[in-house]
Parts: sequence; C-alpha cells; structure tokens
Amino acid sequence: MPPIRDAMPAFELFQPGSVSDALGILDRHGADAWVMAGGMDTFDWLKDRIKKPRVVVDLGMVNELRGIKDAGGGLEIGAMTTLTTVANNPLVKERFPMLAEAALIVASPQIRNQGTAGGNVSQDARCWYYRAGWPCYRAGGNICYADTPTAVNREHAIFNADRCVAVNPSDTAPALVALDASFVIKNGSSERVVPAEEFFIGPGIDIERLTVLRPGDLLTAIRLPATWAGKAHYFEKVRDRMVWDFALVNIAASINASGSTIADSRMVVNGVSATPYRLTAVEDAIRGKARDKATADMAAEIAVRGAVPLRHNAYKIPLVKALVKRAIRGEAEWTS
Ligand SMILES: Cc1cc2nc3c(=O)[nH]c(=O)nc-3n(C[C@H](O)[C@H](O)[C@H](O)COP(=O)(O)OP(=O)(O)OC[C@H]3O[C@@H](n4cnc5c(N)ncnc54)[C@H](O)[C@@H]3O)c2cc1C
Ligand code: SF4
Repeated sequence: MPPIRDAMPAFELFQPGSVSDALGILDRHGADAWVMAGGMDTFDWLKDRIKKPRVVVDLGMVNELRGIKDAGGGLEIGAMTTLTTVANNPLVKERFPMLAEAALIVASPQIRNQGTAGGNVSQDARCWYYRAGWPCYRAGGNICYADTPTAVNREHAIFNADRCVAVNPSDTAPALVALDASFVIKNGSSERVVPAEEFFIGPGIDIERLTVLRPGDLLTAIRLPATWAGKAHYFEKVRDRMVWDFALVNIAASINASGSTIADSRMVVNGVSATPYRLTAVEDAIRGKARDKATADMAAEIAVRGAVPLRHNAYKIPLVKALVKRAIRGEAEWTS
C-alpha cells in the first residue's frame, strides 16, 4: 500500500497563551511533545507522516514571544517574530542589515509571513533521504544513504562530516553567528543563554539533532549584542533558482574596518556543514590587512582548506572561494 501523504497523524493539540503555560505543557509531556512555531517545517514532517508526535504545542497565541526591542544598542528578537517582520524592521535594517537581508531571502513571501525567527534557526536538515523517512543515521539507523557511490549528494556537506553529511539549511543562522548572537532557552523554571556558535551542533555531538534544543526546551529570544551594529556587513546566498529555494552556499560576514584596513571580522558560510561553518582561519589571516584583491585571494585559499567533497558537490569549493573573495572586497556583483 503506498504511504498516506497530506493526512496528518492524530495528536493532542495545545495552544498555550503564555510562556509559562507553554513551559508547563512541555515539562509534562517531555519527549512526546513537539513545539510548533510557524509550522513551515513542522507540517512537512507531520503531513508526510515521518514524525508522529503524541502532543503538539502551538506557540501561535504566545504574544509575549513576538517583537523586536532595543537592548543597549543591540536587539532582542522574540522567537515567534516572523521573518517578514525581521526583514522589514527599521532597527534590524539600520544596525544589522545582513540579518534583514538574510531573512528577506528566505523562501517566499508567504513562508516568511508565517515562518518565525526561532523556527528558522531550529529547522531540521533537508536531506531528502532523511525527509523521505529512510532509516539513516540521523533517523536512528546505521547508514548514510547520501554518502554511498550512487548517492545523490549535490547539496550535501564538504566540511566536518561525521557519518551524516547533511547541512544546516538556514539563511539566518550564519548571519546570527557572524553577529555573535546568543539564544535564550527556557526549560521549566530554568533559563540558559547559549552563544549562536554553540547552539548549532554537528553529528559528533548528536547525530539526530542540528541544535542543542532538547525535549522541554523553549527558545524564547535571540539577542544581538551591539558589538557589530553599524559595522560593514555582507550577506550573499547562491541557490539554483532566483525564486524561493534553499541555499547551495551562503555567506555572512561582519567586518570592522579602520579605513581600508580590516581590524576584526567574523565570517560564516552555511550549506557546507551540519552547522554554520565559521572561517576562523580566514578571520585570523585577514586581521590587519587591506580590504583588497590580494587579501581576498589569500583568504579564499585558506577558506577551503580541509574541504572533502562528495561525488556530486565539488562545485561548492570554488563557490565558497568566490563568496569569501566577494565578502572581503564587499562586492555586490560577480566579478571573478
Ligand atoms: C518550500 C520551503 C522553502 C524554504 N526555503 C527556505 C530558505 O530558502 N531558507 C531558509 O532559511 N529556510 C527555508 N525554508 C525553511 C523555513 O524557513 C523554515 O521551515 C521556517 O523558518 C521554520 O520556521 P517556523 O516558524 O515555520 O517553524 P516550525 O516549522 O514550526 O518549527 C521548525 C522546528 O523548530 C522547532 N521550534 C520552532 N520554534 C521553536 C521554539 N521557539 N522553541 C523550540 N523549538 C522550536 C520546532 O519544534 C521544529 O522542529 C523553507 C521552507 C519551505 C517549506
Ligand atoms: S546525510 Fe544525514 S540525513 Fe542524509 S541520509 Fe545521510 S545520515 Fe541521513
């Protein structure tokens, strides 16, 4: 019998009106509960009947999780703030234009109207073997179907693969790492604040999760410090089609320049690893250098050291090099 699609399995639905009610429900139901934000990733899993949670906790009525406010020159973004609001917010555009750009280029207007800041960073891997329900490592099995001689792996990882070669698909995640954001996570009566770089995890830590979020956890806000506000920002996404599509590779860079000299930077690529991949060796190499072609060319070579392409994704190596060059030169159009 063919699999049933589009008819969701039965679950118990909760629609709390406050953070404390949501936390109480999550606490009571533990690993049986699924947090739902905008539903843009959630409904795929439920309609395809690949994930079958017993309880769904819809955050749609928790208004205290929405909104963007000033935080000492930085910003605090509520987890349920839509991507459209992030993209259009005047403070985000003024202080952190790369985040506004990253949010604006996610998917389609309809998905941005519904998808949230918290959901975008918490979304799961897009590897089609996994999403089709194949029993791979990430699904608790003992094989990676994307890393076999006949696998279709054009979109997969070139860095830091460990059994699973799926990549983090988010557009806002690299921008948030480049802006040194942190994530506020509540669980029961406790709260922890996790730096963006630690929020995203690779298969070496847990092959079944892309983030540190565990049952009972509620991501409530994303904090952006003032450190990189008003500095030079660069964001670029390369995708197959110039309409809604996930990134093949994207890049986010914050550059603190004094004249044409780079004083400091944070540079992150996504779509190449299970976590947004921070180019710390590049950051070190370009410190104190001019923002010119020679620096860009040198950085591009460093950026791809250690890359291990699969059968169909070696094209990501020149792509990363080109994006690093363009970020350093601050170019809007392809030139090399
Ligand atoms: C057709 C299509 C195209 C897309 N293209 C892109 C793209 O180009 N770029 C891109 O970045 N994304 C893209 N996406 C992904 C989309 O942006 C995400 O699915 C969406 O941002 C998820 O947000 P959501 O609010 O809908 O979260 P949901 O789908 O409801 O949740 C996503 C995951 O996060 C968890 N979660 C959500 N909020 C919280 C919270 N506050 N606390 C704890 N856990 C939470 C949920 O449990 C779930 O596992 C696309 C999606 C679709 C369907
Ligand atoms: S890349 Fe990861 S998610 Fe995809 S089949 Fe391999 S183990 Fe599964």
